Amino acid sequence: MTVDEIAAPTPVHYENPEIPRDEVRPGQVVDLRFGHGPLPATNKKIFYFDIDNCLYPRSTRIHDLMQEKIHTYFKKLLDLDDKCAHELHMNYYKKYGLALEGLVRNHDVDALAYNSAVDDAIELKGVLHYNEELRNMLLDMKQHFDYFWLVTNAYRNHALRVISFLGLGDIFDGLTFCDYSQNPIICKPMPQYFLSFLKTTHVDVDNASVMAHQWFVDDSEINVKAAAKIGFGHVVHYVEDPATYARLQKEPEYRGENRIILIDNILDLGQLVSKVA
Ligand SMILES: [Mg+2]
Repeated sequence: MTVDEIAAPTPVHYENPEIPRDEVRPGQVVDLRFGHGPLPATNKKIFYFDIDNCLYPRSTRIHDLMQEKIHTYFKKLLDLDDKCAHELHMNYYKKYGLALEGLVRNHDVDALAYNSAVDDAIELKGVLHYNEELRNMLLDMKQHFDYFWLVTNAYRNHALRVISFLGLGDIFDGLTFCDYSQNPIICKPMPQYFLSFLKTTHVDVDNASVMAHQWFVDDSEINVKAAAKIGFGHVVHYVEDPATYARLQKEPEYRGENRIILIDNILDLGQLVSKVA
C-alpha cells in the first residue's frame, strides 16, 4: 500500500470538562493529530505505551477503585455474593485479560453501559496529578522516535481523561483503545489486538528488521509476554512491586539477549531509550 492510498485519519481533540478552563496547563487539552489512525506513513519507529498503571503508578489506587466498581457490577448484575463475584471476576480477568470480556461473552452485558458504570464513574480528579517530570522526559525521549502511540484496554473516554489529567495530551500521536462495542471484544494480550494496532500504525509485523525498532511498555505481565512473542524489538515491563520484580528477573523471558526489560520507575524509560535507541 502506498502512502497516497492510506485513508486520512481524523484528529482527536478533547477538553476535559473536569479541569476549569482558566487552570488548564500544557498537555491538559488532548490533541492526537492522527486520532485513532491510520498513520500516514509505513514502517516508522514507534513507541507504544500502555496507559493505566503505567503512565501513573499503581499506588494511586485507581486500579483498586476500578476493581471495587467492577466487583459491585458483578454482584448486582448477576446477583452474586462477594465470594462468587470475586471468583468470577478473577476467572474472567485471567481467561480474557478483561473482566468485561467475560461479561459480554457469557452474560450478554451491554459493554457501553458497563463502561459508564465502571471506567467513566471513577473519580480521577484529585487522584491523578499533573506530572511535569514525566512530561519532560517523554518530550525529550520523543526525538528518538517517529511516533508515540497509546494502546489501552480501556475505552476511549477513560484514556483521554487520564492523559489529560497527567498533562500528556499533546505528546502522543494517536490512540488505539479497546472497542467495547465490538463482540467479541479484542484486547491485550490477544494477538489480534497487537496485530490490529500494528496494522493501524502501518508497521509490518512480518518484517523482523522493522519490528526490531519498535518499543512497547506495559505494567501487565501477560501483555509484555504477548508483545515479546509478537516480535517487538524492545519490550519494557514496568513493575512497582519489589517481590514481583525479583520473581520476574529469574524467568527465562527476562534473561538473555532479547529479554523483556524490567523497570521499577516509569521515569527510567528515558535513560533506557537514550542508551539503546
Ligand atoms: Mg496497564
